[in-house]
Amino acid sequence: MNIDGSGNRVNAMTFGPRKAIVVAGVNKIVPDLESAIRRIKEIAVPMNCKRLNYSPPCMAAGKCVDCRVPQRACRITSIIEWRPPFFSDYLVILVGENLGF
Ligand code: SF4
Repeated sequence: MNIDGSGNRVNAMTFGPRKAIVVAGVNKIVPDLESAIRRIKEIAVPMNCKRLNYSPPCMAAGKCVDCRVPQRACRITSIIEWRPPFFSDYLVILVGENLGF
């Protein structure tokens, strides 16, 4: 499950390359979809916005307020339920440490 600001990362994972390789730390494992969305919006988005020097409202509020500002970082959501039939295959490498955010 991925959320992106412009869609470049999420779209490339579902149509285009013959194989997508995902390298993820164990900190990305969550129990369900709701937790995944919450984790992205409460942890990953603020940290990524800090890195990019963006300041959507969640940076000050400390939580997602479903903003409608130009710097909104959550615009494209992708949920991969199963491997697409023609062009994409996946290799997921799960690393036993916290990586990224
Ligand atoms: S929707 Fe807006 S407020 Fe919510 S996490 Fe994304 S950027 Fe932050």
